[in-house]
Amino acid sequence: MEILLEHGPATREEVAEYLQTYKGVKNVPSPNSISALMSKNPQVVIVGKQKVEMTIGINTHHMLFDIDRQVIKDKGDLILTRPISVMTPNERKSAIQCPSCGRTRIMPEQSDECLSCIRQ
Ligand SMILES: [Zn+2]
Repeated sequence: MEILLEHGPATREEVAEYLQTYKGVKNVPSPNSISALMSKNPQVVIVGKQKVEMTIGINTHHMLFDIDRQVIKDKGDLILTRPISVMTPNERKSAIQCPSCGRTRIMPEQSDECLSCIRQ
């Protein structure tokens, strides 16, 4: 998710390329599993399609993924909007259920509502 935040909208192939250039990422997921991961994650939205030329004359369209920028403005917001399924055990301990939307999130400081509810 940090990749989308820093680089802006990208296709799953571009995300895979970025991951490869990242140090410390040993097992880069395949473009297929990247797109599966991103479409399951509520932090990611599809912002359009990019025309990709496969061979001369044949074009295909790839979905462009981006961070939900209405809600997520900087890196700290990523943690506050993280779904419980991808939280670390420590994050899970400090997460509580949002009274407005019922989702389990880490709440922003001095707030009763989750970040998604505040920004929407
Ligand atoms: Zn909420």
